[in-house]
Amino acid sequence: MGNADSSSSKQWRPRTRAVRGGLNRTGFSETSEALFLTSGYVYGSAAEAEASFDGTLDRMVYSRFKNPTIATFEQRLAALEGAEACRATASGMAAVHAAIVCQLKAGDRVVASRALFGSCQWIINELLPRFGIERVFVDGPDLDAWAVALAKPTAVVFLETPANPTLEIIDIRAVSDLAHAAGAKVVVDNVFATPMLQSPLKLGADIVVYSATKHIDGQGRCLGGAVLSDQAFCQDVLGPYLRNTGPTLSPFNAWVLLKGLETLDLRVERHCANALKIARFLESRPEVARVLYPGLESHPQHALAARQMTGWGSILALELKGGKPAAYTLLDRLGLIDISNNLGDAKSLITHPWTTTHQRLAAEDKLAMGISEGMLRLSVGLEDGDDLVEDLAQALDGLG
Ligand SMILES: *Cc1c(COP(=O)(O)O)cnc(C)c1O
Repeated sequence: MGNADSSSSKQWRPRTRAVRGGLNRTGFSETSEALFLTSGYVYGSAAEAEASFDGTLDRMVYSRFKNPTIATFEQRLAALEGAEACRATASGMAAVHAAIVCQLKAGDRVVASRALFGSCQWIINELLPRFGIERVFVDGPDLDAWAVALAKPTAVVFLETPANPTLEIIDIRAVSDLAHAAGAKVVVDNVFATPMLQSPLKLGADIVVYSATKHIDGQGRCLGGAVLSDQAFCQDVLGPYLRNTGPTLSPFNAWVLLKGLETLDLRVERHCANALKIARFLESRPEVARVLYPGLESHPQHALAARQMTGWGSILALELKGGKPAAYTLLDRLGLIDISNNLGDAKSLITHPWTTTHQRLAAEDKLAMGISEGMLRLSVGLEDGDDLVEDLAQALDGLG
């Protein structure tokens, strides 16, 4: 199995790359990509086995290292992102963990934005210090704080924009410039934006990570993750870490995810249209204290979002005047929108971050991140936007 199509795919526009990138048909000339559910590969001779292990022969050896279906997913996502290389992982957290830890050693320093997905926060705040790695958190939108934090030599900068669940926007270009001056590699968690709405590598970042569980699958079926970067990082730094620690994506999940990429653009377009409609509706309601959505003029970093994103995304947060009791009443009254902590799904899903995704954080950490007890995070799905608005309207009516 070569990668014949990945070079020609660079000429195509992103929508074409999302459908055809990495396509490498077998001798059966199938239309849809083949699914290789195999853990191993056989050799024609002992010498061929030896050549495969010493690297003189570039071929499949073991599916923890490489698998044709996983390779198709990796090549397709790399083509879509405009990255030189991609490595898939078993989940988004495996991608975040590997992308950060593979390049660190005791004594290094990491600077990260404060508002992070709960498990990303755990890796940086709890795990890294156990291995003698210093970590510093800054308020993502505050460029002066980044400048202070990055006045010292730093190994890795990690940030999430838009952030989960506060929808804070961070200036990727400005932070990347500061980070590079401090000697750091910039890792961006691009889950909320998806490859369709934001290209961190073009804005100066070095590494992009995805939970493919979210919009890339987008239909609530399987877990997956990906790390994208230049060839040197993927091959020489991340590659050995993944190969030897083994957070490998299942070929079946890779197949589901690569088919998901084919419809990502269409789905994200509908997600965004529905989300903007709902954000505007919620902003008009007296029961709602605040709506956080990058597409609203009231969002504190609306202008920055307009500069670095090509759409506003599918996720919004709202704060209810009645605090946690009102938030719970709203959740329990909803008839169409499901209570669930997943996001980027075809189905609209809503969660109360204080008691679910961010439950294990200390109250003061949640407040410092901008999460309040009355906040809900809504992942807007692909249903008819009018049905979603009606469901929210009946749940809000008469809310204390
Ligand atoms: C969900 C999510 C992750 C983790 O992805 P999994 O596939 O659940 O492991 C990381 N970052 C962000 C922003 C997420 O939303």
